[in-house]
Amino acid sequence: MRAIICPGFCRYYKPDKPDPEGCGGLNWLVARPGLAQAAEHIPPDHAGHLYGQPPDHPALLAICAQCAFRVDGCDFRDPSVPRQECEPCGGLRVAAALLAQGLDLDQPPEKP
Ligand code: SF4
Repeated sequence: MRAIICPGFCRYYKPDKPDPEGCGGLNWLVARPGLAQAAEHIPPDHAGHLYGQPPDHPALLAICAQCAFRVDGCDFRDPSVPRQECEPCGGLRVAAALLAQGLDLDQPPEKP
């Protein structure tokens, strides 16, 4: 999942400095491998949008709520940063793309 999401969808991805922790969006998806097949069919896209989903969609807010970067490290969820100056991470973008396809994101994580 990481090999699909980070280079294909995230503007913060640095191939020479992969983040070992991973953002909350990525980790949320990794914990739900049942969504991997649908994610694999989304064409890579770096436009920074949320596939028409509102940033305050409850499913997306829930993903960000458990992200270690949310409090100190994510401009997208920092109310002091103008929205036009920040973008969501690739993990959140892929989750939004799955929502736009009508997939149910209200799935519990699978045990590793
Ligand atoms: S958009 Fe920010 S807070 Fe939300 S999952 Fe991505 S890095 Fe974390």
